[in-house]
Amino acid sequence: MRYVSTRGYGPMSFTDILLEGLAPDGGLYVPQAYPQLSEDDLDALGQILVYEGYPRLAAELLGLFIDDIPMRDLEAIASRAYTKAKFGTDLIAPVDQLEPNLWLGHLSQGPTAAFKDMAMQVLGQLFDYELNRRDQTMTIVGATSGDTGSAAEFALLDANRVQVFMLSPQGRMTPFQRGQMYGIDSDRIVNVTVPGSFDDCQDLVKQINADAEFKARYAIGAVNSINWARLVSQVVYYVSSWFQASGGHGPVSFCVPSGNFGNICAGHVARMMGLPITHLVCATNENNVLAEFFTTGVYRVRASTETFVTSSPSMDISKASNFERFFFDLTGRDHAEVARLFGVELNRSGVINIRDKPYVADPARVYGFQTGVSTHADRVATIADVYHRDGYLIDPHTADAVKVAREHLGPEPMIALETALPVKFGSIIKEAIGRVPPIPARFAQVLDAEPHTVVCDQGVDQLKSIIEARTIFPVH
Ligand SMILES: *Cc1c(COP(=O)(O)O)cnc(C)c1O
Repeated sequence: MRYVSTRGYGPMSFTDILLEGLAPDGGLYVPQAYPQLSEDDLDALGQILVYEGYPRLAAELLGLFIDDIPMRDLEAIASRAYTKAKFGTDLIAPVDQLEPNLWLGHLSQGPTAAFKDMAMQVLGQLFDYELNRRDQTMTIVGATSGDTGSAAEFALLDANRVQVFMLSPQGRMTPFQRGQMYGIDSDRIVNVTVPGSFDDCQDLVKQINADAEFKARYAIGAVNSINWARLVSQVVYYVSSWFQASGGHGPVSFCVPSGNFGNICAGHVARMMGLPITHLVCATNENNVLAEFFTTGVYRVRASTETFVTSSPSMDISKASNFERFFFDLTGRDHAEVARLFGVELNRSGVINIRDKPYVADPARVYGFQTGVSTHADRVATIADVYHRDGYLIDPHTADAVKVAREHLGPEPMIALETALPVKFGSIIKEAIGRVPPIPARFAQVLDAEPHTVVCDQGVDQLKSIIEARTIFPVH
């Protein structure tokens, strides 16, 4: 299996794109073709889930996309990523029925209580494996609005060849998110707080990456959501959730609380492989870039000043970084068209309008996407309603999904994906049900943890000094 950029660069091997992230032409890597699953294959995968468990299913699916890591090593990687000790359940991603035809797919049982763990745990193991094999080290410089940073840090805690510098917006994360990230005490994990917003953090990361010499000297890499390894790890729970809700018979739909389009894009990939998915419902909050696209055919990225700060903050995006992958398929895999639209048009005008494009005239190409929007009031009402009616406490992102899922119920099971536990977002839970969520026993110490941070309030030169002073690897 080889990989090409959506804008044409390549082909490349899996382990090359694993460490590289973004393609040099600015595009995103995708497989040259999606592996296809027949009904018999799907049956067999369902049996693997039931009799051998989630890690084995994950290894099986990773093996379809990765031909430069031996299968027995993929099995070891998946078993280390998905343990009962980390996820609190052998099922890893259990599915529960909430109401007639409405199911909840739990993706937030991992070490940081958000769905980012599902992919990051595998990414951490893959980095560790490949850096060992190549005898290299890597310095991750990343930015987080809350969930990605802690998921990356916990996934890389045992990866001795990786050091992490994670930038986060000072004072903008919830107390639980802060406790979890800043509580880590390791010289390989450096939490850098930046006065300002997530976009300010992201800007600093971009400036670091723009300095090719500095980047090479410290072997700087990324863990962001455009990494293909994260996407392919997420395909696994679409298969396992389908099997759990349908018993392996007939189609299901998914409703996905979306921000950067990474989660739902994995659902798209699963469907392109042959998983019977009737609808992928893209749920957004007030930041409705994606909902607007799926209703009007116009993709208009927002200025950061136009982005709302909401009570489902992990969906507060101005543009959806994984969207280009889906779009590439939408065009019938036309590299030149994607390069023109995403490489030129979007930078020039901030807008892509596909209403008059010939490829949209073919309804099969739109792949049955549906969409919906939810507001703060909707989230509060949905959290309260699901709690009182169904006896489940859900977090605000999951509430966005459940609210929109209920608007799209059909004859097939609808699986709303749960992307975080309520404990991460206590204040809206209190608003909805009158008290703060219970803290699961395994997170009992989080809020009391001693914080370990370093402040960066003077721009990129200061950030470079921090990296120079704290690096633990030999510089090149
Ligand atoms: C990251 C995140 C999302 C959005 O996922 P995308 O892959 O960016 O679309 C939704 N909910 C939570 C809790 C998240 O952490």
